Amino acid sequence: MFKALVIEKDEAGYRAGVRAVDDAALPAGEVLVRVEYSTINYKDGLAITGKSPVVRSFPLHAGIDFAGVVEASEDARFKVGDRVVLNGWGVGESHSGGLAQKARVKADWLVPLPEGLTTRQAMAIGTAGYTAMLCVLALERHGLLPGMGDVLVTGANGGVGSVAITLLAGLGHRVVASTGRTGEAAYLQGLGAAEVIDRAELSAPGKPLGKERWAAVVDSVGSHTLANACAQTRYGGAVAACGLAQGLDFPASVAPFILRGITLYGIDSVMAKPSVRMPAWERLARDLDLARLDAITTEIGLGDAVQAGTDILAGRVRGRLVVDVN
Ligand code: NDP
Repeated sequence: MFKALVIEKDEAGYRAGVRAVDDAALPAGEVLVRVEYSTINYKDGLAITGKSPVVRSFPLHAGIDFAGVVEASEDARFKVGDRVVLNGWGVGESHSGGLAQKARVKADWLVPLPEGLTTRQAMAIGTAGYTAMLCVLALERHGLLPGMGDVLVTGANGGVGSVAITLLAGLGHRVVASTGRTGEAAYLQGLGAAEVIDRAELSAPGKPLGKERWAAVVDSVGSHTLANACAQTRYGGAVAACGLAQGLDFPASVAPFILRGITLYGIDSVMAKPSVRMPAWERLARDLDLARLDAITTEIGLGDAVQAGTDILAGRVRGRLVVDVN
């Protein structure tokens, strides 16, 4: 038997709680992993609370990511004792996930843990941090280099935002952090933000074109914030959009695209190919300041995960929540 955060939906309603389950409860897959750490991402909050229909199979172990050690493998690429990390692929949505002491998954979904990262650090990064890296890589492919100008990061206190600030500042960019929690300015400056602005500057309906402020943008917020970020991006600049914390809508005009030639990159972490994932994890292992990563990380136990799911949707979580499932 092992412990898992089980999501159930039946005539008694939608509920999540920690239960003892056995290996027979695990779905099919070539690799059995002894999970060491998982995390609480925004999507985990949606799954745990049922606020959005992200879970599509019941009962299901929550957790869209995990890091751990291979316990059994039917795939030549992974052997017992290998350290692995998993993000996405519908795990924690349609396939039982990482908020559990064991997970069984397809070998294709696993990434070998890069040298230099512990399983705890991998989950301090988690899906949010790996997505922040995907955003940075998209901006770099666009041609962004340090010194080109201010880079805006929205949702700054969140998981994606905190890691994006840490990465970009560490790479030498001048980062402007947009937040609704300006009282956390010292924390954001500690991560490397050169300037902190109130998200109210960006979150209300704005003009089709604004003053050219940003060389590039990492946006985890969507809605008017994303529209205004595009309207304020400098000629030829780029915006990487990965989230919807403000809203799923995108009330924008084509003006920044056709008059300033800006580019909007859509970032998906869930179905990203291994050829995209592996370099992202390698770059995280190489470029992320681990002392700063530690500063954005709070560790909780599996028993705290249900409350944490509510907290993250309410915008009460700062940085990253790592879950020690053992
Ligand atoms: P968090 O909850 O940790 O961060 C979201 C942040 O957004 C909050 O901390 C807050 O920052 C800001 N925010 C919250 N509500 C609002 C609002 N109404 N208006 C403006 N800003 C708001 O979540 P994550 O960092 O884990 O995820 C961020 C987003 O990215 C989510 O929408 C998530 O679904 C998405 N995501 C997408 C992925 C993909 O593959 N595309 C992968 C991972 C995440 P502050 O308090 O500083 O204002």
